[in-house]
Amino acid sequence: MAKLEEYKRKRRFDRTPEPSGESEPVTGKVQDKPSPAGKPAAAGRRTRLPKPKLQLEVRSAAEHGNTFVVQKHRATRLHYDFRLAIDGTLKSWAVPKGPSQSHADKRLAVQTEDHPLDYANFEGKIPEGNYGAGTVMIWDRGTFHVEGNLDALKQLEKGEIKFSLNGEKLRGSFVLVKLKQSEKGNEWLMIKHKDSAEDSSWNIDEHDGSALTGRTLEEIKEELPPKRPLIPIRPEELQGAHRSSIPSKIEPMLATLSDRPFSDPNWLFEIKWDGVRAMARIENGALAVRS
Ligand code: MN
Repeated sequence: MAKLEEYKRKRRFDRTPEPSGESEPVTGKVQDKPSPAGKPAAAGRRTRLPKPKLQLEVRSAAEHGNTFVVQKHRATRLHYDFRLAIDGTLKSWAVPKGPSQSHADKRLAVQTEDHPLDYANFEGKIPEGNYGAGTVMIWDRGTFHVEGNLDALKQLEKGEIKFSLNGEKLRGSFVLVKLKQSEKGNEWLMIKHKDSAEDSSWNIDEHDGSALTGRTLEEIKEELPPKRPLIPIRPEELQGAHRSSIPSKIEPMLATLSDRPFSDPNWLFEIKWDGVRAMARIENGALAVRS
């Protein structure tokens, strides 16, 4: 894929665990063909050194069609890499201060080389001596859609692309605008639009931790295990699950008394606000809220 030339030129894939972008399926799913010797197809692939201790993701690149990802990258300088899946690659910008949910923050975003789609899976260490050596965290990830009448590529060409993000940390409408006075021609500004997700008191340091594993940069560097399940459970993966209509009534789980609090990575704790509990359901596009 010609657009990944610069990405590949900068990296030695026998020395970095980053994806090579070579197994990129263009459309649909890639079927693993059994090799003539009867060994699994994976055995024939180039061995990557060093091997990451954690196999973080199993989603194929084809499933990253409308993915955005923000990778916190502690290289020579700490920065955040913002990437949008457009036209079969991840269009990428390095954002020194990181994205912001505050409209007042106009963040410099320096466009960098296109990355392969499965780079959205990459969290780990890039060893010393390699391009971008340091630690990479998947700081946020989710889906996006392009706003306006022009498609994403046309908006990029015009130097202004509007999109809406649906991530864990970044949400709502944003714009990336190319600076006309930029000497190198690669400087853009990333600006949050004023909408219900806008937060004028946004502070990126209050939103730290991997959206994939819950780990800090330090914990990724130490190759500590994930603090949360890697992939959201999909219905087809649930044992004994079967398709049925939405139940007409669900009994809410009620609080129970216990002698002492407990700690469990599978639980989240929230302050108990008294008030009316409501259940919302969306069925055939209609929203119903019941208390
Ligand atoms: Mn980077």
